Amino acid sequence: MKVIFFSSKAYDKQFFKEANNPYGFDLRFLEVPLTPATAVLAKGHDVVCVFVNDTVSADILQELAAQGVKLIALRCAGFNNVDLKAAAALGIKVVRVPAYSPYSVAEHTMALILTLNRKTHRAYNRVKEGNFALNGLMGFDLFGKTAGLIGLGKIGLCTARILKGFGCRVLGYDVAETPEMQEIGIEFTDLDTLYKESDIISLHCPLTPQTHHIINKTAINKMKKGVMLINTSRGALVDTKAVIVGLKNEQISYLGLDVYEEEAHLFFEDLSNKVIQDDVFMRLLSFNNVLITGHQAFFTSNALQSIAEVTLQNIVAYAQQEELQNEVK
Ligand code: NAD
Repeated sequence: MKVIFFSSKAYDKQFFKEANNPYGFDLRFLEVPLTPATAVLAKGHDVVCVFVNDTVSADILQELAAQGVKLIALRCAGFNNVDLKAAAALGIKVVRVPAYSPYSVAEHTMALILTLNRKTHRAYNRVKEGNFALNGLMGFDLFGKTAGLIGLGKIGLCTARILKGFGCRVLGYDVAETPEMQEIGIEFTDLDTLYKESDIISLHCPLTPQTHHIINKTAINKMKKGVMLINTSRGALVDTKAVIVGLKNEQISYLGLDVYEEEAHLFFEDLSNKVIQDDVFMRLLSFNNVLITGHQAFFTSNALQSIAEVTLQNIVAYAQQEELQNEVK
């Protein structure tokens, strides 16, 4: 099997090369993203391996099919970036890594919550400069606060367990209730109640037509004044312009983002010597109660190892014509 990687970084190479030892697949790593212009580079490869911001649209799939590609291997969990109907029509299978480390994302969610609350990022800079004043650094006890989680899958449940450990009351909303939610002590509720009662709201659902801009002006107006909003799932779950209005009128007092709806033009690259043209993003950065990380919630060594292993196992299953357990249909 010949596998070509788009949007690959040095760390992808490192973990995939190690995981490939037992298989000996022919792996080719490209740094460029998959675009209509770069799709032709897949010529002669059986498998195209892509990441979160590679758009696998119908026209690109057509080009890939023409180049002989038979399998799209997503090295991530989300699959909102793939036109599944077009892939099926062309006979191209799509596989993903449904669960690599829910802990990585849940723990990063906690890092955003704790940093925004206790302002350790600001304290770090102050102390380095010999400024030990505490004004502006006051936080609140997480103990006894109400956290509302939208999406109670692997990451949502993991986040709920951690928040329970902090002594939070945890409300949860999902399209379906499972016994595990009860076991953890999550109060399953409707969205309006979650918005009304939560001090902290964190998103853990996938991006679908139903969840696109689930956090919009109407939702924000239903939230508690001074709410903390966290998004480590997918950028387009949040209407960024509505959130900026919420920050300006202080309905939202804390915003933690690991994802952003226009992130494909920004994240995973060093743009420190360039002028960022995205004015909405720059407005977000101007608030001192907004903390943004560049889609790094997944980025632990455990998760990268697991992503590489499961992706290669998916390719093995395809090569051996076994049932594709991680196929996205
Ligand atoms: P999962 O499939 O285990 O859980 C998703 C949950 O969302 C499911 O319980 C599902 O029923 C629920 N859901 C679906 N539609 C919903 C809706 N309309 N309203 C409420 N809930 C709904 O997925 P997961 O592994 O927990 O991952 C969650 C999301 O996290 C992924 O979709 C992905 O976008 C994101 N993610 C981000 C990173 C990162 O690095 N920032 C890494 C991995 C995953």
